[in-house]
Amino acid sequence: MTSPPMIVAAFSTKPYDREFLEAAAAGTGIEWRWFESRLDAATVRLAEGATAVNCFVNDALDAAVLEHLHRLGVGLVTLRCAGFNQVDLPTAARLGLPVVRVPEYSPHAVAEHTVGLVLMLDRRLHKAFNRVREGNFSLDGLLGFDLHGRTVGVVGTGKIGRRFAEIMLGFGCRVLAHDPQADAALTARGVHFVPLDTLLAESHIVSLHCPLMPATHHLIDAASIARMKPGVMLVNTSRGGLVDTRAVIAALKTGQIGNLGLDVYEEEGDLFFEDKSNTIIGDDVFSRLLTFPNVVVTAHQAFFTRNALEAIAAQTVRNLVHFERGEPLEAVVKA
Ligand code: NAD
Repeated sequence: MTSPPMIVAAFSTKPYDREFLEAAAAGTGIEWRWFESRLDAATVRLAEGATAVNCFVNDALDAAVLEHLHRLGVGLVTLRCAGFNQVDLPTAARLGLPVVRVPEYSPHAVAEHTVGLVLMLDRRLHKAFNRVREGNFSLDGLLGFDLHGRTVGVVGTGKIGRRFAEIMLGFGCRVLAHDPQADAALTARGVHFVPLDTLLAESHIVSLHCPLMPATHHLIDAASIARMKPGVMLVNTSRGGLVDTRAVIAALKTGQIGNLGLDVYEEEGDLFFEDKSNTIIGDDVFSRLLTFPNVVVTAHQAFFTRNALEAIAAQTVRNLVHFERGEPLEAVVKA
């Protein structure tokens, strides 16, 4: 007699998620229920009958949704991402609902995308691309600077920040880092761990790679921007809430911030991962950002490599199979 399939309600899924998850789950007996919609109070009932849910960065796993999942008999929350700021962990713990994630899939993907944003902004590649296609071969306004010799500040030297720091060392940059846990291996390679204020004051490029937590919410605000070098390049591929967007817009207007690269945005949940090209964007703060010639925004795509999607799917399926077999769970997120 074959055992019944394990039903997994997977939210915020796109065709590419389904392709990689289905391939990874082949032969495991997992039965997917695919939902394009985000998990929130309005959609949580779709998880009825599921043993586990599978979620992404903008699903709203707040107290009400977790309690509803618990009432439906859902026994496990699996995340297809490393970040877990979208989950009310104390409530999950109180309900005895384990939350597992994919702590590491490809730090290279995010670090390399961050470098892409740095180069794009520095050399104005976003403008050059359009110009050349329109037969405009003028260089006016495209003047950049050598990365070699510049000071790069890395805030958070975990898996991604460490990789980004290593790449920037390869460009010949002076690399400063700030992290509560200094990394001896990075120090040995020439990275200088310094207090945040020193990093902000001395860096030509500041790149954020720390998690979003209450302590890091709006880490970059008007006061911290004022401590930066005039004309600094700020890059955030971590989480939108690290940056006070209104303060950044004010600093772009004065030139205090000279270049801004974002892959994440505080209110991205209402925008990113969807085709809004025929929609009027209601978010005036976001729309203002897009008017600056020295701002490049990508829509949370830093993780988006084939390698990363394979690794995310493999770890997600491992997490589900361990749960189904009653084996110890890897990658449990602790409150
Ligand atoms: P990680 O846990 O390996 O590293 C985070 C580091 O930040 C740790 O070393 C920690 O000590 C440090 N840190 C904590 N508080 C800090 C503070 N106040 N100041 C400075 N450093 C602090 O995480 P990771 O895998 O390197 O991911 C980093 C961030 O990137 C996470 O926020 C994650 O959500 C985000 N991320 C984004 C994407 C994307 O597609 N844009 C993809 C994956 C991860």
